[in-house]
Amino acid sequence: MAKRLSSRVSLFAALGLGLLVLAWGLVWLQGIFLEERDEALAEVAARRRALEQFALIELEQRLRAQLDETKPTIDAAREDPLLPAGQFMLYDRGELVLPRQSHPLSGSGAPVSAVYLRLQQDPASQWDGQVDDDEPWNVRVQLLVELKQALEAGDREAIEGSFRDLLAHRAAFVMATERDLPTMLVGLEMLQRQARPRRELMAGLLRDGLTGQTSRLDGAQRQLLKRVDRFTSKDLRYLADRIIALCEAHSVLYSDFSARIDEALERKGDPPAVPPLPDPTPREPMLLDHGRWYVIPARDDRVYGIEVRVGSLLEEITAAMRERALLGPEDEVKGRSTARAAAVSSVGLEIASPTWAAATDAAESRYRLKAMVEGIIALLVFGVMGLGIIIYRRRHRFLELKSEFVSAVSHELRTPLASIRLMAETLERRTKDVPRARDYPTRIIRDVDGLSFLVENILSFNRLERGRWVPKPETVALSELVEKLGRDKDSWARRPAALAIGDVDTTIFADPDLLQLVLTNLARNGCQYNERDPAEISVTTEPCSPGVFILVKDNGTGIPEGQSERIFDDFYRAGSAQKTRGSGLGLSICRKIMEAHDGHVRVRETGPDGTTFELYFPALKGTS
Ligand code: ADP
Repeated sequence: MAKRLSSRVSLFAALGLGLLVLAWGLVWLQGIFLEERDEALAEVAARRRALEQFALIELEQRLRAQLDETKPTIDAAREDPLLPAGQFMLYDRGELVLPRQSHPLSGSGAPVSAVYLRLQQDPASQWDGQVDDDEPWNVRVQLLVELKQALEAGDREAIEGSFRDLLAHRAAFVMATERDLPTMLVGLEMLQRQARPRRELMAGLLRDGLTGQTSRLDGAQRQLLKRVDRFTSKDLRYLADRIIALCEAHSVLYSDFSARIDEALERKGDPPAVPPLPDPTPREPMLLDHGRWYVIPARDDRVYGIEVRVGSLLEEITAAMRERALLGPEDEVKGRSTARAAAVSSVGLEIASPTWAAATDAAESRYRLKAMVEGIIALLVFGVMGLGIIIYRRRHRFLELKSEFVSAVSHELRTPLASIRLMAETLERRTKDVPRARDYPTRIIRDVDGLSFLVENILSFNRLERGRWVPKPETVALSELVEKLGRDKDSWARRPAALAIGDVDTTIFADPDLLQLVLTNLARNGCQYNERDPAEISVTTEPCSPGVFILVKDNGTGIPEGQSERIFDDFYRAGSAQKTRGSGLGLSICRKIMEAHDGHVRVRETGPDGTTFELYFPALKGTS
């Protein structure tokens, strides 16, 4: 039983181990697949990162180049109010310089226009007639009156002289623009109406400015633009229109002036049209307003900025990278949504590449396919194993049923066989003196004995096989068992047999019934496979250390060559057994019994003179 159990346990243990190894193998394989996939993905990711980095550096360089190129224009726009500055940004010591922020005064009045008109109609009304050198305004108006008088007199020399005086006064006295400009414009208009001033002079006075020996006078256009914050919108428009009319009359360029005036009028104190700096002194180039402005810090606490189109720059970069075969024809550099303000170095760029997406998908689907195949293999293996277990269990059950059936049948045969034997014995006694009965009853008895032995062997085999016969070892005197063998000899020996008992004066620690069964089987075989008369069986012992050998020797036919081991198999019958009846179970039973005693049975020697079987019992508790 224990052995059967242990063989079953070891079968399941082997199965479990196999499953474990298989599971480990599958996990290992899965690990390799995962590693392969991760490597493929990492390769794509590394290439993507490198190219994104490259694109970012390109973007930084292009932005920088754009700004470096624009910087002189920004500096110039700062100095020259005629230049456009809407797309530039310039902070100087934290103060926004460009785009220009100055705007007209609020209010609907037009005080400067009023002064202008009065001067135009009658400059003398602005002068109280007293010359006071400390009052530049009075002097200026008087000079204007003088110019007017010279013009009215048509005295060319006086006109030139008084106009020169007017200019000299302008150069000598820096007057507020809202006072200076109207006098200047009124003077110029008088001049234009009544004299024929040179165009160069008018261009200098209206636009280009005049450079004297010690000073420089701005043209009226720049002068007005520099001081838009001193005028109301109405005054600004009015004065600008006056300047434009004069420019038109003398073919002096004024389109930019007109545009700047319009811009100034539009501003009306609205907040600056540029995004605020997140930090008044940024330390590195930045993109503001979601990438619409690029700013860089410069020397002297200045910050330069320009309006940029990152989208078209990225398109250019894409094209350049495609040209250098860094990107495929369908790949594209794209900007991730940029923050309101971000350092250019941290702007997120990504490369949209169908090739990489395909490579990533391929790696993923390769992995999925392999994992699926692995899963199917695992399912198959587990399925086959499960099927094997079911078949094993069914077969096992079938064998159990078969063995139960054989056992039941054999058991049922016992009683009728015993009755037949009893009746045959009675018949033998009663027909002792009937010659016609001959030896038939005796033969019946012998055949019944043979059949009974066969039935007993089948039952013993079944019980041993199914583990139902557990040896109950005890100290047994071998001589007693051998003597019983001698007594029972006639019931199993088909022919006259002699039993020679050698040195059997020893005790053995064994189950007496089982050991008797072994001895009977061996002795019976010795008679059965024997053609000599009489058949001779001898039982003797041979000491060994540790334990003892019991030797059962016969003078039979011997075992055919090469079959000395196989004869111990279940149901195996050697060539020598052709003529005799048997089941092929006797020696198998002997081996099972000896193994249950931790000993063995084997053929020690065999030949035409007979066979010697060796039973080995190890020294066990209770043996002497
Ligand atoms: P059975 O005797 O029922 O055939 P056994 O298992 O007892 O079954 O023996 C198996 C076979 O071994 C026999 O059929 C026979 O051929 C051979 N055999 C067994 N014992 C002897 C022996 N003493 N001499 C010769 N052959 C033997």
